[in-house]
Amino acid sequence: MKFDVKKAREDFPILKTELKCGHPLVYFDNSATSQKPLSVVEAVSDFYLRYNSNIHRSAHELSENATRAYENAREKIQSFFKADDSYSTIFTRGATESLNMVAQVWGGSNLKPGDEIILSEAEHHANIVPWQIVSEKTGAKIKVAKIREDGSFDFEHFLSLLGKRVKVVSVAHAYNVLGSVNDVKKIAAAAKECGALVSVDAAQSAPHWLDALSGEIDFLSVSAHKCYGPTGIGVLVGKRELLDSMPPWQGGGDMIENVSWEKTTFRASPARFEAGTPDIAGAIGFGAAVDYMNSIDSEGAKLHENELLARLADALSEIKGLRIFGWAKGKLPIVSFACDGIHQNDISTFLNTQGIAIRSGHHCAEPLMKTLGVSGTCRASLAFYNTAEEVDIFAEKLSRAVKLLS
Ligand code: PMP
Repeated sequence: MKFDVKKAREDFPILKTELKCGHPLVYFDNSATSQKPLSVVEAVSDFYLRYNSNIHRSAHELSENATRAYENAREKIQSFFKADDSYSTIFTRGATESLNMVAQVWGGSNLKPGDEIILSEAEHHANIVPWQIVSEKTGAKIKVAKIREDGSFDFEHFLSLLGKRVKVVSVAHAYNVLGSVNDVKKIAAAAKECGALVSVDAAQSAPHWLDALSGEIDFLSVSAHKCYGPTGIGVLVGKRELLDSMPPWQGGGDMIENVSWEKTTFRASPARFEAGTPDIAGAIGFGAAVDYMNSIDSEGAKLHENELLARLADALSEIKGLRIFGWAKGKLPIVSFACDGIHQNDISTFLNTQGIAIRSGHHCAEPLMKTLGVSGTCRASLAFYNTAEEVDIFAEKLSRAVKLLS
């Protein structure tokens, strides 16, 4: 049965928002953050309205309910990412914090001068800068795997970088600018042959129901807000044994076993890495987002997204002067482009006057912009609740923008 996009849109009240410009909203900025279904908004407000309380610490009923909901959310998320008991799921502020935790805590305590870290050319700053910081501190060196012309990962080049000195490989499952999807299971298998740790940034792939985990992946970083959940919450799914061998990240309440002036001891993961009162409502909202994603016909949604992508690519190929970046097979519905002689911000500003929300700039991927030879791009990023009509409106208005601004 064909994916019922009309029905899916009913779950997202914001899609009916009236804009100042008077045009209907076309929301094509899903890679920056996705919209939230009513069930997520209700789960968050339900917590505050009915059982707001701090978790883990009290015997009273509200606290018990809050603790149960928080821990249930953790279980749901862990199973959504198909992580078995050898993994532990830690709540973080998002993919950025998860990646920082891997770099600073694992990297900070395991890397030494002469060690090597492999990243790739199209990474988001969240998977570059934390490694640069740790490389400064430890003397480990960063090596960069190349991207091919079509935006796909150059596996042969990656293989040529591997060796005994490589201690960690950290790559995106899908790129936020190019939309290409990496075969992270294959990358992880090759990395493991050298004994390297494998960290995967699943911020962009998770919202599209792409499974990343294989037993060879040690850490998976995700943000809830790109998966139809709240902002400011995410997870680090990590190998339990590894996590428990790592020193704590922050000290404070909940992460300790015993505290004394003489010696303080720490709990096992996940508590070990969740110091202080966490974002309880956010975690519950993330759990609701996972429930929502589980309720969607994911195969139908993926097919629908692919149809939208093909329609968009066709329409854009008709517009003279556009350069599209990334056309690898199997890519996500993310299309980045530039138009010679027109600044990317002028295009997105014009589109905004027509009710169309896209993003322009370097998308937190400045090294990639350098490789592409541009200061920035426009990026249209789609979700399963977008429609073919929206793609047509977008293509028509973009064509007008290019004519007007040329
Ligand atoms: N990695 C990728 C590939 C991303 O696209 C993003 C968000 N743009 C991040 C990491 C960081 O996510 P967050 O800002 O939610 O922490």
